[in-house]
Amino acid sequence: MEARPEIIIVTAPSGAGKTTIVRHLIENYDFLKFSVSATTREPREHEVDGRDYHFLSHEDFHARVGRGDFLEWEEVYRDQFYGTLRSEVQKIKDAGHVAIFDIEVHGASTIKEIFGRKALAVYVAPPSMSELENRLRSRATESEESIQKRLRRADAEMRRIEDFDLVLINDHLDRSLKLAQKIVDKHFDSYASTAV
Ligand code: ADP
Ligand code: 5GP
Repeated sequence: MEARPEIIIVTAPSGAGKTTIVRHLIENYDFLKFSVSATTREPREHEVDGRDYHFLSHEDFHARVGRGDFLEWEEVYRDQFYGTLRSEVQKIKDAGHVAIFDIEVHGASTIKEIFGRKALAVYVAPPSMSELENRLRSRATESEESIQKRLRRADAEMRRIEDFDLVLINDHLDRSLKLAQKIVDKHFDSYASTAV
């Protein structure tokens, strides 16, 4: 039988719905633990250091890059750095849990390459680019400039879709959340009894 994956990567162009799906999975499966990334961007209102991100200064972030602390890191937007700390992934593994990642497409592809078949990598695709734009606008977290930046980036990101194991087209949210649960049930059957 094929080995069970050790981690789940959920990736998508910004606004496609990956955070919504990851949150739903974490609420429904005790064994899934969110891999908290590090970033140099400022915390948004309601974001908590250590829960949503490890918020680092540029100096700290780059010192940790130099020490090899990151599994992967990217300058996702100009002067805004994000990265996955090796220690975060190890901590989750040591506790007997499965790390779930909510990260952009380049970083996700790097992690998939490192873990190979030990990672289940899910690409969340928007039903169309115009719907992606609608969602970014209705989320109301970005400036117009930031929305445009994300849409430009999304074009290139859609071309990386083949780097991943599964594509989940996030059209009707209810259906997508159910499908995401089915994917977890199928690949992590021996954990199923811990589903809440
Ligand atoms: P991402 O993490 O990929 O940037 P989010 O999960 O933040 O995306 O979703 C972007 C916006 O779209 C949010 O306001 C979210 O509530 C909304 N959204 C997510 N999935 C759907 C869907 N299937 N239909 C409509 N709106 C959605
Ligand atoms: P936001 O600032 O909206 O929270 O995140 C911006 C983008 O950075 C999102 O696409 C998010 O998934 C991505 N991101 C978050 N953490 C990481 C990480 O550790 N590595 C990489 N490469 N991207 C990340």
